[in-house]
Amino acid sequence: MQKIERDVVIVGAGPAGLTAALELKKAGKSVAILEARDRVGGRTWTDQIGGATIEIGGQWISPDQTGLYSLINELEIETYPRYKEGASVFIDHDGKRTVYTGEDFPVGEATVGEINKLIALMDQLAAEVNPDTPWTHPDAKELDTISFHHWLESKTTDAVAVECVGLFIAGGMLTKPAKTFSALQALLMAASAGSFSNLVDEDFILDRRISTTMQGVSLAVAERVGTENIYLENPMLRLEWSKDGVVAHGKDVSVSAKRVILAIPPNLYSRPTFEPPLPRWQQITHQHQSMGLVIKVHAVYATPFWREKGLSGTGFSPSSLVQEVYDNTFLNDPRGTLVGFISDEKADQMWALGEDERKAAILESMAGFLGEETLSPEVFYLSDFGAEEWTRGAYATSYDLGGLHRFGPTQNDAVGPIYFASSDLAGEGYQHVDGAVRMGRRTAARIVAEFEGTEYDASFDGAESAFGALAR
Ligand SMILES: Cc1cc2nc3c(=O)[nH]c(=O)nc-3n(C[C@H](O)[C@H](O)[C@H](O)COP(=O)(O)OP(=O)(O)OC[C@H]3O[C@@H](n4cnc5c(N)ncnc54)[C@H](O)[C@@H]3O)c2cc1C
Repeated sequence: MQKIERDVVIVGAGPAGLTAALELKKAGKSVAILEARDRVGGRTWTDQIGGATIEIGGQWISPDQTGLYSLINELEIETYPRYKEGASVFIDHDGKRTVYTGEDFPVGEATVGEINKLIALMDQLAAEVNPDTPWTHPDAKELDTISFHHWLESKTTDAVAVECVGLFIAGGMLTKPAKTFSALQALLMAASAGSFSNLVDEDFILDRRISTTMQGVSLAVAERVGTENIYLENPMLRLEWSKDGVVAHGKDVSVSAKRVILAIPPNLYSRPTFEPPLPRWQQITHQHQSMGLVIKVHAVYATPFWREKGLSGTGFSPSSLVQEVYDNTFLNDPRGTLVGFISDEKADQMWALGEDERKAAILESMAGFLGEETLSPEVFYLSDFGAEEWTRGAYATSYDLGGLHRFGPTQNDAVGPIYFASSDLAGEGYQHVDGAVRMGRRTAARIVAEFEGTEYDASFDGAESAFGALAR
């Protein structure tokens, strides 16, 4: 067992942990990162599959994500737009397929009116919610103890409007059924993206991609942190802690440090052994944040055949197996790639099937949007983060009903020398790489202020580095 000493040990080499390490290094502090996997990037991960570049995890960046934008500017990494030309496809509850343009789903005038009424209401409430402290909203308790589905039902009798609006946050973001999380949790998601209108606008929220892929951002940060400081295949199994510091025990390295940052998803906090155990409050709190489940479907074709039909590749259907489809062709690839999403209970159903049956059902559903050419991809791949031991779901964690206002207020408190940083504890950029970057920067700035006996500015939002660019 190798024994080393650092100012700060960071657990997890995802975007949050790596950004924290980069910031600490800029401030002149020594760091080591323990990472369970044999790679950096966490929930951002690119692989070559059947000769195609597949972004298995996170990939899109939206204009409000200024924390991530400032990081990629610092790293001199470019972005490129998602293909958006042409009409979209909507499939309704009865299986009727409609090709449409414009922002409104083709669901009839009265339902469009109800959907827009709900969107306006969500926008109004989201503007009242501070994403860093959603529990301070005057109606926080009331909003946190009613499910998003039932809250929507209390605002309209139009079931199709409820289903369509529910889709944006339930299937589309938290990847849990809308009956299992609260209206406050939905408002946090909306406020974290600037507004609910931003969330429902796929041209905004899925605006651009990263030229080096999203995992490429983590690889570039890792290079600046120094790969010699990153211990791969070293899950932290045990943490000894006291007011004087910590010893983080990985598989084959132990790091003594003054502080530790747990930059792992909250559903995994119970995985290492803590000596002494964490206080009662944290032991309870951490049981109330759980992962959603979504299957990200990748299908690569010889050409982007849908473009020749005047279609953008975008499709929505709250009732279909695959509820969203987009053109996901990688930069400069002459082939065409589609990405689709299968969320929560529909994902459960798919994993219960055999491989061939599952593939056939998924392609059949995608063909409903874009035609029978969809049935024969050259490459077909399903992202399966639910089966990944060091993530256990996708995209991210959220609180159960009532958990956000009860446990949220202390979720970012340090416990002695132990700090928590995750996209799933972020306000702005919540559940996104942007939130991970912001949390990495904020946590590093808090620790540096403590080391140096200076005042930490609690309003620091992590949109920019607190320490400038790293001298190279
Ligand atoms: C399929 C999918 C699609 C997504 N799409 C997008 C998108 O388009 N845009 C976007 O912005 N976001 C997207 N996200 C979310 C985004 O990827 C995450 O918000 C982000 O990666 C979180 O960063 P993080 O550093 O907080 O955590 P993670 O990325 O989860 O990193 C945590 C790290 O900790 C490691 N770890 C866990 N336990 C231990 C341990 N005991 N010891 C040592 N290491 C440990 C893990 O291996 C991992 O490397 C998506 C996520 C998924 C899964």
